[in-house]
Amino acid sequence: MSALDSLLSRFQTVGNDLYMRSMVSMHGGNLSVRQDQNLVITRSGSRLGYLTEPDLIETGVTKDDENTKKASSELCVHRAIYQNTPFSAIVHSHPIHATALSFLGDMVLTEDEAGKLFIPKVPVVGFGKEPMPGGFAQEIAEALKTHAVVLVHRHGSFARGMSIEEAYVYTELLEISCRILYMVRKMKP
Ligand SMILES: [Zn+2]
Repeated sequence: MSALDSLLSRFQTVGNDLYMRSMVSMHGGNLSVRQDQNLVITRSGSRLGYLTEPDLIETGVTKDDENTKKASSELCVHRAIYQNTPFSAIVHSHPIHATALSFLGDMVLTEDEAGKLFIPKVPVVGFGKEPMPGGFAQEIAEALKTHAVVLVHRHGSFARGMSIEEAYVYTELLEISCRILYMVRKMKP
C-alpha cells in the first residue's frame, strides 16, 4: 500500500465515523495532517463520509501553490494551528450537542468521568461574536496549545493530535460529554 493509499484509508475511516455519528453534515467538516512543510487537507466541498483520492489536497503549511485554492475553506485555521503548535493532525467537525452548548458561554466544563479526565475545560472561541468560515484562526491555534479540543461559537469543534485518529477521539469525547451535559440539564427538575 502506498503512503497516499494508507493516508486515504485513515481519512476515510475517520470521515465516515464522523458522518455516521452525525458529527458532520454531508459537506461539512474537514480533516488534515501535517507532513513536514506541507499539509494534506480535505478538498473544499468534499463529503467526509465518502472521501476518494481526489479529495485529499496537498499544499504548503506557509506557502500557497496551485493546489491551495482547492483546499477546504478552513485552510487558514489549519495552517495557523500547524504554525503555532507541535501537533500534526486536525479534525474539524460540527457535533450537534457540543455546538449547541457553544451558544451558552465562553467555556464548557464537562461533568462525566471521561470528560473530566481528558477534556475538563473546553474553551468557546469567539463567544458572542459572529462566526465566519476560516475565522478566529489565531485564537483557535492559541487555545489548542493547552486544550486538546476547542469549540467555536455557533459553529463547531477543532481537535488536534499527533494522528488523525487521536484528534478524532477528542472530538468524539467532546460530543459524548456535551450530550450527557445536555441530557442531565434536561432531566433536572
Ligand atoms: Zn465548520
